Amino acid sequence: MTTSTGSSGRPRGGPDALFPADPVQRPKSVDPAVARRRRELPEPKALKRHGPARVIALCNQKGGVGKTTTAINLGAALAEFGRRVLLVDFDPQGALSAGLGIQPHQLDRTTYNLLMERGVTLDDVRLKTNVPGVDLLPSNIDLSAAEIQLVTEVAREQALARALAPVRAEYDFVLIDCQPSLGLLTVNALTAAHGVIIPLECEYFSLRGVALLVDTIEKVQQRLNPDLVLEGILATMYDGRTLHSREVFSRVVEAFGDKVFSTVIARTVRFPETTVAGEPITSWASSSTGARAYRDLAREVIARA
Ligand code: ADP
Ligand code: MG
Repeated sequence: MTTSTGSSGRPRGGPDALFPADPVQRPKSVDPAVARRRRELPEPKALKRHGPARVIALCNQKGGVGKTTTAINLGAALAEFGRRVLLVDFDPQGALSAGLGIQPHQLDRTTYNLLMERGVTLDDVRLKTNVPGVDLLPSNIDLSAAEIQLVTEVAREQALARALAPVRAEYDFVLIDCQPSLGLLTVNALTAAHGVIIPLECEYFSLRGVALLVDTIEKVQQRLNPDLVLEGILATMYDGRTLHSREVFSRVVEAFGDKVFSTVIARTVRFPETTVAGEPITSWASSSTGARAYRDLAREVIARA
């Protein structure tokens, strides 16, 4: 079994290694996600001062895989460990803003204005959230125009990186919630980031998209942002009772080795509930399995930073 990958996280043997011609369907008695969690996760050290931030893009061109849920709950969990967090809603759907109880269509200024209008500063757009230690750059449907308008700009891929540069010193983590596409907005997020977290739904079809995403990450690395690394792959919507989930998870670990976080996010209705409540699971259901999982992920992310 392969347990390591290059810095970009390209799976050994190329994307086809994810799809052996004849996948072996043998029942496993041990839940691979449980078996993998041998190591104790280190308890994060308290910080004496803050910044400069590590910028992490949550990226997957497939929708509904847990990008926004991870941005909100990883952000909240990092803040519980005393980290200062800026969440960037970089999806015109505005789901990240809505998930934190903010009505995105009622906003006068959003990330769109920050990117496109000279004279608009980050302080004009930034909001405090109800989660202590977590700030937000909100977005709404206006941002979809940026995708088109940026095309004619000079250094169009660096617009977000430029906008974030002045506040890196204030935060420990900046998490960018990407839209489900590999268009110019996502390329901006990858150009602004140090690392990429790929939330991956434990479904066969999810694996196909990852090869394309890894290609895009490599292109951005080569042409725009040589420091970009694959921070990790996060298995989401995991159901250890189904052979399907187990098989997909094992396949992902075979292909990506240590790049796969040992924390796995189980499928639970508590997450849709938190979306309605407009708050993170860490406060909505503080002792739930989901809240604990995102705290474990925060421990891993801090340890990898
Ligand atoms: P994305 O941002 O990738 O489109 P979301 O985070 O918005 O995905 O998640 C899509 C839907 O799935 C949302 O309704 C969310 O509440 C729900 N969801 C996210 N994570 C889980 C999970 N682990 N278990 C069950 N539902 C989840
Ligand atoms: Mg989303």
